[in-house]
Amino acid sequence: RTVYVNGEYLPEDQAQVSIFDRGFLMADGVYEVVSVLDGKMIDFDGHLVRLKRSLSELSITNPLSDEDYLAAHRELVARNGIGDGLVYLQVTRGNPGDRDFAYPPADTVPTVVMFTQAKPGLADAPAARTGWKVVSVEDLRWGRRDIKTVQLLYPSMAKMEAKARGVDDAWMVEDGKVTEGTSNNAYIVKDGTIVTRELSHDILHGITRAAVLRFAQEAQMKVEERAFTIAEAQEADEAFVTSASAFVMPVVEIDGAAVGSGTVGPVAKRLREIYIEESRKLAV
Ligand code: PMP
Repeated sequence: RTVYVNGEYLPEDQAQVSIFDRGFLMADGVYEVVSVLDGKMIDFDGHLVRLKRSLSELSITNPLSDEDYLAAHRELVARNGIGDGLVYLQVTRGNPGDRDFAYPPADTVPTVVMFTQAKPGLADAPAARTGWKVVSVEDLRWGRRDIKTVQLLYPSMAKMEAKARGVDDAWMVEDGKVTEGTSNNAYIVKDGTIVTRELSHDILHGITRAAVLRFAQEAQMKVEERAFTIAEAQEADEAFVTSASAFVMPVVEIDGAAVGSGTVGPVAKRLREIYIEESRKLAV
């Protein structure tokens, strides 16, 4: 695989980042994941806007222009022959030389890394036909989940707990309400209304969430942005999650209780179809 490091395209075993990089020592960095379908980037502009917001919230200088980011994505997709898959992008505060809690001077050069992962048949994931099972766990992450930082240890722990309990993912709960999945936004559907938590510092502002809500409204579906409990989700007609890599993924069981019929519901199925179809048209 060819990867991108600070302006260079290199074989992955020759790519290097300093051990003093703040991303490595302090998780001082942000990332994005963009899906690729038929060699084109899905929701690219949205991911770029969020990347720049994450960088700005952390006072990390944005090292590249929009055109450079897109050109690098396209170059990696081409060099690696990616039809369906993803491009991972990470920007960290770079290598100040010494370890220190204080940020280094603003002219410290950020580290930019990008790589691809091939995922043939990404849009036809078999799991979308059966749906995911999830369990609830306490949300023990920090208080700025709207910034897409690389400090992913708690969501990794939650994912491992889900796997240990024989299910696909965990829904995190704070003050009795669902915040989000380990790497996705969470939704329920009740009496035709789609319910998902409102945007705040408590959740990541999903790019797929924004697109799906827009398509739902365009299709005259009702949308309510508010928090919900696990009990409410278990009594809903449907549940699902959204993310750049899972698109719209139905959720059919929560903490051992079937949601609705316990099979993939019509709203999640339709939103998945609309999202994939419309996003393909807008891909770059
Ligand atoms: N919430 C969390 C915690 C995530 O990690 C992700 C995926 N990065 C999402 C939501 C979904 O965001 P997006 O649709 O932009 O992939």
